Amino acid sequence: MKRHSRPETPRPDIVHPSVRATQLNLPFSGHAAGAARGGGAQPSDSQSRREFRPEEAARQVRLHRTIEDETDHVAASLGLYLPPGKTLELCLTNNHYSMISVRRKPDGYRLRLHRMFLGAEPRIVRALARYVVHNDRRASALLGEYIEQNQHIIRMQVRRPRHVRIRTEGRHHDLQAIFNRLNTERFEGRLEARITWGPMSVRKRRRRSIKMGSFAVEDRIIRIHPALDQECVPAYFVAWIVYHEMLHGKHEVLRTNGRRRFHTKEFLEEERTFPDYQRACAWEKENLDRLLRG
Ligand SMILES: [Zn+2]
Repeated sequence: MKRHSRPETPRPDIVHPSVRATQLNLPFSGHAAGAARGGGAQPSDSQSRREFRPEEAARQVRLHRTIEDETDHVAASLGLYLPPGKTLELCLTNNHYSMISVRRKPDGYRLRLHRMFLGAEPRIVRALARYVVHNDRRASALLGEYIEQNQHIIRMQVRRPRHVRIRTEGRHHDLQAIFNRLNTERFEGRLEARITWGPMSVRKRRRRSIKMGSFAVEDRIIRIHPALDQECVPAYFVAWIVYHEMLHGKHEVLRTNGRRRFHTKEFLEEERTFPDYQRACAWEKENLDRLLRG
């Protein structure tokens, strides 16, 4: 088996696309000092004082903060800069298109903020407050810079592709037909996945390696390298590659000491039960060069 000819790229950990935004309502009656001076005038004093004492915020620093903790922290930091008597409704998001959105109401502000602002330095938090309260233009420019510098945080988020082009019919091999047959024969028709030919590569140079198939865990799509769609590639070989990727849809990925193992003992044993296993291996050995060229 030419393992090197089918490198498995471990997929990066997935940030779940719908990380729940936490919403909280905080009454603002000014800074801790201001609240103390107010006496009994404001009924929500005790609560807001507990929320906004800077010492309390400092104690909340932990190694692994939850999204709730983070939201509390951002709200508390912003609270220090907001005018007395206003409320802030803060919602942290993973939105890809809008990093900050503010609704200014008579009694306070409703702020939706991208999670990239978690852990932002104090001058950024101050700019946020100036932007929220005064729609300050210089603050807005500074925030724009910050967003620019933190683009990678948005890019890191794995998003579910909305439109995956599925092309099952090749010139010589029909992937859906192969998939359906194997599903019936070897998976009791229970394997759920989509299959498509992978994108054609533009470069015509000889490849050094070829990834003949892949299984995308997050959207359960099997991609087969278009180089296999040639007349000279026997149907049993294409079927074997498809079968291998289908097995990825069946077998769990094993995690040992933080390393992910895709081809477990059970996986390999089941793969060997494929009737054309020997024939396919032999064909690959003899024809790998041809596949690398085509
Ligand atoms: Zn594999």
